[in-house]
Amino acid sequence: MDSPLRAITVLSGGTGGARFLEGLLAGVRAGTLPGVSPDAVVTVVANTADDVWMHGLKICPDLDTVMYTLGDGSDHERGWGLRDETWSVKAELEAYGVEPTWFGLGDRDVATHLVRTQMLEAGYPLSAVTQALCDRWLAPRFGDALRLLPMTDDRVETHVVIADEAEPSGRRAVHFQEYWVRLHASVPAEQVVVVGQGDATPGPGVLEALAEADLVVVPPSNPVVSVGTILGVPGLREALRATPAPVVGLSPIVGGHHVRGMAEQVLAAIGVQASAEAVGRHYGARSEGGVLDGWLVDTRDAGAVPGLEAAGLRAAAVPLMMTDETATAAMAAAAIDLVS
Ligand code: GDP
Ligand code: CA
Repeated sequence: MDSPLRAITVLSGGTGGARFLEGLLAGVRAGTLPGVSPDAVVTVVANTADDVWMHGLKICPDLDTVMYTLGDGSDHERGWGLRDETWSVKAELEAYGVEPTWFGLGDRDVATHLVRTQMLEAGYPLSAVTQALCDRWLAPRFGDALRLLPMTDDRVETHVVIADEAEPSGRRAVHFQEYWVRLHASVPAEQVVVVGQGDATPGPGVLEALAEADLVVVPPSNPVVSVGTILGVPGLREALRATPAPVVGLSPIVGGHHVRGMAEQVLAAIGVQASAEAVGRHYGARSEGGVLDGWLVDTRDAGAVPGLEAAGLRAAAVPLMMTDETATAAMAAAAIDLVS
């Protein structure tokens, strides 16, 4: 690439996407990313299909994970939610016997959900609410250099079909949060159903963020319930296919397994093998009708490179463990190199 990259758009889920973004933003600031201007603007298009209403509150786990992580508020050890959290609200709800009791709702976190819910009920779209929340968490650190956009303002919810002998049909659909947080993805996912997706429209700024990007990155986020649900918003896949910017992805599957989370279970539900190569082929090369130009795999999966190249993708193998910001920034640099 000859002119410097000034606009980078990232399609993100929660934890994997947020960690990647930490490294990417550190790399931008440090000037270690090839061809990237130090004043580049990063736009995050975040998955909202994990969103759920609980106790009258609208909860947006992926938006909040990105916001708290990049706002330096997250609890890195727990892996979700805020640092210095207390749990009185949760304990009081349990004392009332109010279900569900399995969802972690910290007191500090509740304030976020209260603000969001109030604003939504006052008529603001989720994108405007997100902007208001980010004014607290992201603006002081990043100013205009970081934008967080919900994939859509519409209600879209991932449900997972699981076996249940008590049902006449022998199966039952549970909200994704119930599958993950209550059941710990310990039972097979038979099917993933994204309720409301067909009627959703991309959120304000989302299509522009793809059309006007100098680079689009698909981070090591869940290919089904994070990136898959973003790409499933009508018009989004087409916008990604049409953008003049190179599109590069990084594998969330390393050595045949997810690093954390439940990608293996939900990949099985859509009939895709849990391997770096299969996920790269699932996204596909733009030259072959897919969404990517390049796909980065871990060194353990170096054997996948020729097959990926045969599928029309630029491919390379580098260490893909996001152990710290420096390692993650190096992954971002390698991804940019791959499609430059
Ligand atoms: P979620 O919404 O919290 O599930 O987060 P994402 O969808 O953004 O990311 C989840 C994915 O990140 C999982 O499939 C993990 O395998 C992947 N992941 C987490 N840590 C790492 C890492 O260090 N390296 C790689 N390559 N993938 C990771
Ligand atoms: Ca998520």
